[in-house]
Amino acid sequence: MSRQLVSAGLVCDYCGGPITVPTIYRRGGRRTYYLCCEACMRKLKKKLSRSNKNKAGAP
Ligand SMILES: [Zn+2]
Repeated sequence: MSRQLVSAGLVCDYCGGPITVPTIYRRGGRRTYYLCCEACMRKLKKKLSRSNKNKAGAP
């Protein structure tokens, strides 16, 4: 009953929920995001790409 998760205390950077298995997304090698699942990672990427108005690489 004393299982300690490595990710204890981590919350998802997208949905704010508790993380059991962390999905780590590093952006530009500077900032690191922790997501609770791949779906949140994709949504976060979309959100970030939207807020970042940079023509480079954008279709
Ligand atoms: Zn999440």
